[in-house]
Amino acid sequence: MTHKLAASLVAAFALGLCAIALSAPRISGGPAAVDTQRIIQSDREPGNWMSVGRTYSEQRYSPLKQINETTVGKLALAWHYDLNTQRGIEGTPVVVDGVMYLTSAWTITYALDARTGQELWKYDPKVPPEWSRFVCCDVVSRGPAVYEGKVIIATLDGRLIALNARTGKPLWETATTDNTQAAYSITGAPRVFNGKVIIGNGGIEYGVRGYVTAYDVNTGKQLWRFYTVPGNPRDGFENKTMEMAARTWSGEWWVQGGGGAAWDSMVYDPELNQVYFGTGNGSPWPHKLRSEGKGDNLFLASIVAVDADTGEYAWHFQMIPEESWDFDTTQPLMLADLQIDGKARKVVMQAPKHGYFYVLDRNDGKLISAGRFSDNNNFMSGVEPGTGRPIVLPTARYEDVPRLLAPNAVAAHSWQPMSYNPATGLVYFPVLESWIPYQLDEGYKPEKFRVSIGTNMGAEPSEKNAAVRAEAMTKTVTGHLLAYDPVKQKEAWRVPYSGGGAGGTVTTAGNLVFEGTGEQQFVAYRATDGKKLWEFDAQTVPMAGPMTYFIGGEQYVAVQAGGATFGFAMGRPQRSGGRVLVFKLGGTDRLPPLPPVSPLAPPPADINGTEDQIRAGQAAYHKTCAQCHGRDAVSTNAIPDLRFMQPQAHAEFNDIVLKGIRSAKGMQSFADVVSPADAEAIHAYLVARAREDYQK
Ligand code: CA
Repeated sequence: MTHKLAASLVAAFALGLCAIALSAPRISGGPAAVDTQRIIQSDREPGNWMSVGRTYSEQRYSPLKQINETTVGKLALAWHYDLNTQRGIEGTPVVVDGVMYLTSAWTITYALDARTGQELWKYDPKVPPEWSRFVCCDVVSRGPAVYEGKVIIATLDGRLIALNARTGKPLWETATTDNTQAAYSITGAPRVFNGKVIIGNGGIEYGVRGYVTAYDVNTGKQLWRFYTVPGNPRDGFENKTMEMAARTWSGEWWVQGGGGAAWDSMVYDPELNQVYFGTGNGSPWPHKLRSEGKGDNLFLASIVAVDADTGEYAWHFQMIPEESWDFDTTQPLMLADLQIDGKARKVVMQAPKHGYFYVLDRNDGKLISAGRFSDNNNFMSGVEPGTGRPIVLPTARYEDVPRLLAPNAVAAHSWQPMSYNPATGLVYFPVLESWIPYQLDEGYKPEKFRVSIGTNMGAEPSEKNAAVRAEAMTKTVTGHLLAYDPVKQKEAWRVPYSGGGAGGTVTTAGNLVFEGTGEQQFVAYRATDGKKLWEFDAQTVPMAGPMTYFIGGEQYVAVQAGGATFGFAMGRPQRSGGRVLVFKLGGTDRLPPLPPVSPLAPPPADINGTEDQIRAGQAAYHKTCAQCHGRDAVSTNAIPDLRFMQPQAHAEFNDIVLKGIRSAKGMQSFADVVSPADAEAIHAYLVARAREDYQK
């Protein structure tokens, strides 16, 4: 027996997949030699992870089981790779034939040796730093796609780029967004099938009109585009579907774009030759300001199915007609064949922000079931039988009275990938329980290229919102990992977290679920009951989707760690920069020791604003700065916490804000929207906040 064959047999034995592993198909043609058939047959080669969700069903389940509930205690770091950034990391790597491809903050893309972590190439698409102004929730990227020797990335500033998988050199590039019209951005991962690559976009809070586009994977030529909301009727509708959708809108909805952007999940279904995507909320947020309070506003907050060849409308299911709450339904979609009431059903599943778990028949988009998964829900009491429309509670209506809402814009569950284990029948995802005030912005004016949402999140104190602000102080943020039975629509088990939200999950045939936590641990749980079996101090928050692969007789588990972004409540500030962390049984790598604990925050600067100035600064801060630096000036530390600025930042405050002297770090000039008087007021407010929180 040759050494190579022996190694293969050992590997196959470890997999428990002897016949299958040995007959794994191989496409000649070098790195990233992936095509549609190969992804369809992913289960024949479970050692690879060829698309962000592993398979076209995007269940993020791996048949690998060398690492399992009895061996996981020996799991240890195999290698780590520094991403040299403090910014948000949300990507799932792809591994094909020994090479790991991944995207980091600013869509910087890497190819690493998946066994050793050695860098093969790095590509920086040079996203202009000022584009960070146009993303709500940091400069993140959720991963690449690979296809026929190419690595395809979608950049933060709206470009789709195909790289040569061997060299990392660009093959073609196309702008998928018109950045002169509106502040579009892309954070989602492209998906590939049948010679096409599809991508959506984001930017709803900045007034965009959403769409999903398919391009030729070899040339970047546009093949089809599906708009998620209608444009101005005067310009003519693109198709009958837009004409139909326009009948559900009123007023001049197109002025602020309408929204509906599909900024994350898209799934290709080879069985039905359809593409499904989730659409975002409306722009501006309140239905009253967007559409005169009339009509359902298709296709906001919907799951939409289109023909994969042509992009033509197939069906839609609108979860939130008259959307007003930033209830995106862009969260991960997952396909499965489930046995429901004795019948085999082809379903698409989602656990969206508003706290109900949906199971739809993906033949026609009809609702099979919807069950509540969030503990707190004063938004809806259930779905209407027949239509599946939410029964919206009076406590959710904030047009006249400010309301404190759970779930809300930061979710019961957002972009964090969920996974489904066919052996346990359970879906695993993090749940965040939080409360946020909503208030109609009486002074709303449509504005492009800045946050303009028509909703005041209660940051500007007034008599009107005093009650909700007081109520908000009585609430605490909590979170848990939830194991949920989609057939019974019922919780199976949970693991509570003190710090709030947690990361995406992967589940395996080893009866395991892996997840990163806000406490900066990377943890393995038993998939059947949630018993904690192993944990690793990650030094930062591993919130992205973990994945697993198999090379040379060893199973690896990988996660990109770093950068607590918006919607990820944290247990403590992150202590290291972003990293790829990769584990195997008996791994011998160690993380370098942490640098000494940073000196205590400098005492508040000697700046004393008047009461009026501080109040004006608070309002200006929440209009322009809070999006990145955090509400009430409390940051996640991925972006500097302005309560604890160093003396130099105080000295240069106006030049930073108005002249952009730190633009290379992504903090460009805001002189177009912040006056010198505003800057002084914001500074006074920040110092006032520093005094409140100093050494507490
Ligand atoms: Ca949104």
